[in-house]
Amino acid sequence: MAKVWVYADIGPEGPRPSALELLTKARDLADTVEAVALGPGATGAAAALGDYGAKTVYASDDPVFGEYLGQPAAHVLARLVAEHVPNLIMFATTYDSRDVAGRLQATTGSTLMSNATDVLGLDRARTEILGGTKIVDVSLGGPEPRLVLVRPKSFAAEPSGGTANVVPVVAEVPDELLKAHRVERHEEPASGPKLEEAKVVIAGGRGLQDPTNFALLERLAAVIGNAAVGASRAVVDAGWIPYSHQIGQTGKTVKPEVYVAVGISGATQHVVGMKQSKRIVAINKDPDAPILKLADLGVVGDALSFLPRLIEAIEARES
Ligand SMILES: Cc1cc2nc3c(=O)[nH]c(=O)nc-3n(C[C@H](O)[C@H](O)[C@H](O)COP(=O)(O)OP(=O)(O)OC[C@H]3O[C@@H](n4cnc5c(N)ncnc54)[C@H](O)[C@@H]3O)c2cc1C
Repeated sequence: MAKVWVYADIGPEGPRPSALELLTKARDLADTVEAVALGPGATGAAAALGDYGAKTVYASDDPVFGEYLGQPAAHVLARLVAEHVPNLIMFATTYDSRDVAGRLQATTGSTLMSNATDVLGLDRARTEILGGTKIVDVSLGGPEPRLVLVRPKSFAAEPSGGTANVVPVVAEVPDELLKAHRVERHEEPASGPKLEEAKVVIAGGRGLQDPTNFALLERLAAVIGNAAVGASRAVVDAGWIPYSHQIGQTGKTVKPEVYVAVGISGATQHVVGMKQSKRIVAINKDPDAPILKLADLGVVGDALSFLPRLIEAIEARES
């Protein structure tokens, strides 16, 4: 009987959405779906994990998993793997999970595939290569469990209405693994909907010319409502806006109802993070910009003169 595990990231408000997405997919792959949750809040998260398909949750609330980077979690996970022998473990592509998955692979010698966009079976997964222009199915060799790091939003999370049996895990970690200590945790202050959850995403690129012009995107988001502001890497690297706004291969993946790309050329590394949006609107002064080929609606012109008029028109319609 196939057994699939999900390594569940837990945040202050419970399981991260990615854990629920992976559990939903795991239900298609195996009769036995289980989750491993390590760190403060793990036991409390078990009910939600059960609701999305985990029959068993191996949980430890021990602060050691929050205070240190991946080493303690990878060590304990390796012990659980040896004991319970899952066929496949799915991880979300987060900093913490990537750290744990890499360390686990070094211990087990199994295959670790990153950047998966789908998991097709216990030994098969899908990814995109060459900046998202080609889709390839990859066969996972080597000993079990195969390890797969899955891109966020690859699956839609759907509850199954189940409950989980919680198995407490003892956090026995050798002293030599307590080395990389977290000294500070910084939460980016945010207002409005989260980028990954907003119905509308308005993203700005180098075509905005100046960081202060992001204020135009904020105003547009405010008049539309349930909208968040994203960015290309070019402007994140230039320090115009924090990394938490970056969309693309090395940033976030979004799938809003409407994606508005303002002054963004449409490089493949950007497009992989937004191409699954339901409708794409692009505002670009270059009629040959690649983003316009992808767009359902393209505006060829200067964004800096177009946006104020668009905002005014929406405000006039609302009043
Ligand atoms: C390994 C790797 C990973 C990467 N990861 C990412 C990633 O996650 N996300 C990402 O975005 N990029 C990523 N990149 C970078 C990517 O290749 C591009 O360099 C980047 O997306 C370009 O950003 P941009 O579109 O804002 O800038 P540009 O390519 O400079 O485009 C600016 C656009 O604005 C238009 N424009 C100029 N002025 C105006 C105006 N007044 N009005 C309207 N339009 C105007 C121009 O016509 C142009 O199309 C990655 C690159 C590498 C190598």
